[in-house]
Parts: sequence; structure tokens; C-alpha cells
Amino acid sequence: MRTKSAYHESLFSMRSNVYIGGEAVARDDPRLRPGINVLDITFDLAADPEWKGLATARSTVTGEEISRWAHLPQTPRDLMQKQKLIRLASRRAGGCIQRCMGHDALSALAVGTKEIDMAGGTIYHQRFLEYLKIYHDQGLVSCCAQTDSKGDRMKRPGQQKDPDSYVHVLEKREDGIVVSGFKMSITQAPYADEIIVLPTRALTEEDSDYAVAFAVPADAEGLSLITRPVWLREKDKPGAPPFCRYGVSDCVVILDQVFVPWHRVFMCGEWQFGRRLALLFADSHRHSYSGCKPAISDILCGASALAAEANNIEKASHVREKLTEFAGAAELAYSAGVAAAVYGKKTDSGVFFPNEIYANVGRRLTGETIYHEYNLLTEIAGGIAVTMPFDGDFEKGDNKDALKRFIVRNPALSAETSLKIWQFVENIGASAMASWYKIAGVHGGGSPIMETIALGIGYDFEDKKRVARYLAGIDPALDDSHMRSLEPDFIDDRE
Ligand SMILES: Cc1cc2nc3c(=O)[nH]c(=O)nc-3n(C[C@H](O)[C@H](O)[C@H](O)COP(=O)(O)OP(=O)(O)OC[C@H]3O[C@@H](n4cnc5c(N)ncnc54)[C@H](O)[C@@H]3O)c2cc1C
Repeated sequence: MRTKSAYHESLFSMRSNVYIGGEAVARDDPRLRPGINVLDITFDLAADPEWKGLATARSTVTGEEISRWAHLPQTPRDLMQKQKLIRLASRRAGGCIQRCMGHDALSALAVGTKEIDMAGGTIYHQRFLEYLKIYHDQGLVSCCAQTDSKGDRMKRPGQQKDPDSYVHVLEKREDGIVVSGFKMSITQAPYADEIIVLPTRALTEEDSDYAVAFAVPADAEGLSLITRPVWLREKDKPGAPPFCRYGVSDCVVILDQVFVPWHRVFMCGEWQFGRRLALLFADSHRHSYSGCKPAISDILCGASALAAEANNIEKASHVREKLTEFAGAAELAYSAGVAAAVYGKKTDSGVFFPNEIYANVGRRLTGETIYHEYNLLTEIAGGIAVTMPFDGDFEKGDNKDALKRFIVRNPALSAETSLKIWQFVENIGASAMASWYKIAGVHGGGSPIMETIALGIGYDFEDKKRVARYLAGIDPALDDSHMRSLEPDFIDDRE
């Protein structure tokens, strides 16, 4: 398996196409390091014998041991292992582990290319499997560029004034295609090897040029990554706590006449599958959220419990009650992920795909509760998260001894521990990173309205009406076909 240092080595030798604040920067720029540190966690877990079989899996195309982030789920257990790995890794990173977008894009392409081929006799699936073989052999890391900049939200891709509002095909050549357009909010792109580009929405025939999916090296000619790194205030301080080592970068990805050889093209013109491919990524990603959002709740719950201890209010009944709300948010989301795995389905591609209803209800719940969870932390912690003096005031100067007394509220805690708790609460609840998590919690994987739409289409409302009709005495018997359909497509693959 690829090692962390091999990943660094190839990353730092990539063409310079990353821009921050109007300047081209190398990939070893310190502002990108917090994100790379997060990816390092994923390499460390894969190399740790304790997590073999969880952080690793056996490749379906090479038979070799690979990182689970590159593995196509074959069974319900694979999906649950992915979910557990995301929660485990996210707890270490203090949040988003950033590898699931690539994973979910691979799953979407595996399922989607098979379906496109079955409908139209194309050869995308075989192409994709050949790409996957290289991906597994080299232990590649990818991000997913699905979200187009979208321009005027009320217009379809083909109706936009600026055609680059959505990524589209400019030219089909004998050896490949040429594409242009803007993708936005693309997490992890400046420290990924590959960018997997997928359509973001349903398309009509007039949008055929926008029906395109492919993979490109993240430093391909014509590709620019306009990067916004997010990190914590203390990141550079020697001896900073683990949480402060980690961060994230998101990009506007500009594709300017990028050439993509055919062997990397997985959809080109099949507009009827735009919605399907977009949803395959979104649903797989919503299942991934059932791993990371419980981890965010774990972190917020832990921060709130520590703040309660520092305030010496741990035993107050309102605090105990508030802490149980985190338990509800975390474990309901996690349960939805488990249910999505158990009630998932084997697709024609062989990929075991999560149940869309459970994946969507889990994701919607977490999107709805995220601000409430931050509010719980704020209520328990009080206002110190945004009014505390800077670190230097506690370390040097005339006031440091007074501040050491000031910071202690619970006499059982030292000044040093109390300060660490409040700095942690500030970082978790009131930093740029905290705002990132709030907004990612709402919009990442699709805005709540997208889950609402998915549930509106996919949920069996007729079944519920049948129950009501029977109980109301309109129908003489209850049609139980829905309950009969709730059979797990379960293959127990434990070795
Ligand atoms: C932190 C973060 C990380 C992300 N990482 C990635 C990533 O790695 N890869 C990726 O592909 N994407 C990523 N995203 C993008 C994410 O999927 C989108 O933010 C999400 O799908 C919403 O799209 P948007 O931001 O363009 O908002 P919009 O789609 O513009 O939504 C804003 C509002 O407009 C409404 N709206 C939009 N269109 C219409 C319409 N036609 N009619 C009526 N109402 C409409 C929406 O319902 C919503 O209320 C990330 C987002 C965040 C916040």
C-alpha cells in the first residue's frame, strides 16, 4: 500500500496550479498543511495493524490490500465498515476526514457506468474498471468535483448566459474530449492526486454537452485550483493541541480547455443519466455523513461536557438534559447509516449501494440539528469563547498571573487545564473552522431541500395511505407489500 511519505513526495512534485490570494503556491505551502495532516491520519490508520480490515479492504479489481477509501463496497458490512472508519478517523481529525468524496465518486461511477452501458451499449464500465485498477495499484487519493458554479439558479445549464457556469464538453476528438467550466466548493482538491468530475443535476437533451463525467490529475494542463484554506488560529504554535494541527481547503476549480483522454471519460452526452449519476454520488455521500456527523456530535458533546466541568455545572439537570441531545443526534444519524447499509441493495455493477431513504433521513436529520448542537455548546459554555484574551496574554506580560486566577472557575481544575478547555471551546465553537462545520453541516452532500426532494420522490407515501384507509375502514384488508419489501439483501461476509 502507498505510504504517507510516498503520498507527500508525489504531491509536492505536482505542477503548480494552486492559487491562494492571487498568487501561485506550491503544494507544500504551510497553509495547505492542515488539510494534508488530515489525509495523513487516513494513511496512518491504513498502516496500523490494529485497524486492518477496517481502514483497509481487498480490492475487487487487483485482489491486493488497499485503503478502504478506494474500495467499492460489496456487502452491507463494507458499508458499515466505511461508516465506522469515517467516525473513527473524524474523531481524530476533529471533524471532516475529506476522503469520502473520492470514495463516493468511485462508487457512483461504478454503478452509473454499468447502468449507462446496459441502456446504450457503451463501454464506460470497463473503462472505469481499468482506471480503478490503476487507482488501486497506485493508492491514489481523489476528490469529487460535482458542484458546478451554476450561475442563474433558475436557468438550466444549456440556458446559462455564461456556458462555463457548468462544466461541459467543448470538443470531441479521436483521442479524447476537451472540457471547460467552473466547479466550486471542492474540498481537498489541492492535496488530491485526482479530481473526479461528475454532473451535479438532472439534465435535458439541450444540456447534452453538460452530461460529462471523467477523472483528471489534479495538476492537469488547463486546470487551476483557486484555494481557500481554513485553519485554526493556533496552528503554528509549537506544542499546539492535536485539534489545531488540522484544517481543510476548498477550491473553485477552473477548467479551461482541459484535454481528457477517452480512457478517463466515463460519461459523454448521456443526458438521461445526469440525474442518476448526480444522485448516486449524493446518496453515497449522504450515507458517509452518517459516519462523520456522529463524530462531529461526539466532539461537540465532549467539548460541552468539558465546558460544563470547567464551569462546575456538570451536575445541573439542564446540563445533563442538553448532553443527552447530543446522544440523540449522533446515534440516530449513526443508526440511519446502519439501516441504510442493512437495507441497501446489490447493484448490477456488484457494488452494494446504501438504501436511499435511510441515507437521506440520516443526512437531513444531521443538517437540521447542526446549529442546535452548536447552540447547546454555547449555552453551556457561556460567552468566554468569543471574549477570552489571546493566548499571549496568558503566557507573558504583567497580567499573566491575574489571568491564571481569572481562568479558573472549577476549583478542582488547574489554571493550565482550565485554559486548555476554554481554548478548545473557542476553537470548536467560535473559529473560522467552526463556521465551516456549521455550513458544511447544512449544505455538504446537498442542501436540506435536496434530501427533502429525494424523500418526496423515494418515500412510499401510498403505503402509508393504505394503512390509513384500512384503519379508517375504507379498505377491508391491509396491503402489506411494503413491509414484505423490507427484506435485507444481506450477505454475511465476516471472515
Ligand atoms: C464546506 C463545504 C464543502 C463542500 N465540498 C464539496 C465537494 O468536495 N465537492 C462538491 O462537489 N461539492 C462540495 N460542496 C458543495 C455542496 O454540495 C453545495 O454547497 C450544495 O450542493 C448546495 O449548493 P450551493 O452551495 O451551490 O447552493 P445553492 O444550490 O445555490 O442553494 C442555495 C439555495 O438556493 C436554492 N435553490 C437553488 N437552485 C434553486 C432552484 N432552481 N429553484 C429554487 N431554489 C433553488 C436552494 O434550495 C438553497 O436554498 C461543499 C459545500 C460546503 C459548504
